[in-house]
Amino acid sequence: MARDFSRIQIPQVLRFLSRIKILQDGCWEWTATLDTEGYGLFKAQGSQYAHRFSYQFFRNEMIPQDKEIDHLCRNRKCVNPNHLEIVTHRENCQRGILGETTRQRKLSRNCCSKGHPYNSETTYRTKEGWRVCRICKQEGQRQWRARTPNWRLVKNKRKFLALPIEERRKLLAEQASNPDVIAYYENIIEKEEVK
Ligand SMILES: [Zn+2]
Ligand SMILES: [Zn+2]
Repeated sequence: MARDFSRIQIPQVLRFLSRIKILQDGCWEWTATLDTEGYGLFKAQGSQYAHRFSYQFFRNEMIPQDKEIDHLCRNRKCVNPNHLEIVTHRENCQRGILGETTRQRKLSRNCCSKGHPYNSETTYRTKEGWRVCRICKQEGQRQWRARTPNWRLVKNKRKFLALPIEERRKLLAEQASNPDVIAYYENIIEKEEVK
């Protein structure tokens, strides 16, 4: 059934916009509910696909009954109307296969997305066969540490909790500066002491 888009109201559009996060590559990532396939769902005149809503509203164009929407960016969560295109079901399936060739192309590249060359020193493989650049990985870890105060305590929670209470208190006093982390661990210690 065709939807009447002249009935769409501003609050609906604002609600839609409040659920997207604009990514660096230009994708509008849907941050609310996803279906089991990973496509965004939006409640407006009933539940519908967020990317379909986006296409019809922002491009002011109805999607014909016999057509589908293809994600040119191959990011299913994306609802950027400029990344969407109307295609036939057949075209959509063929493009799905092209997605597989993108995987092949990625696997045949000789450097990471930041341009670090892939070689035995800088690269390792995941179980799925993807290559991971150690330089980028280390940079990612460095950034995570910078964002996470007392990351040592957070990361080594199991080890930390296995230490004798005295030692834990000492470490907390020496290393922890984040009040949430301190409160979290002190709470655990107190419960243990009650026992
Ligand atoms: Zn996109
Ligand atoms: Zn890299």
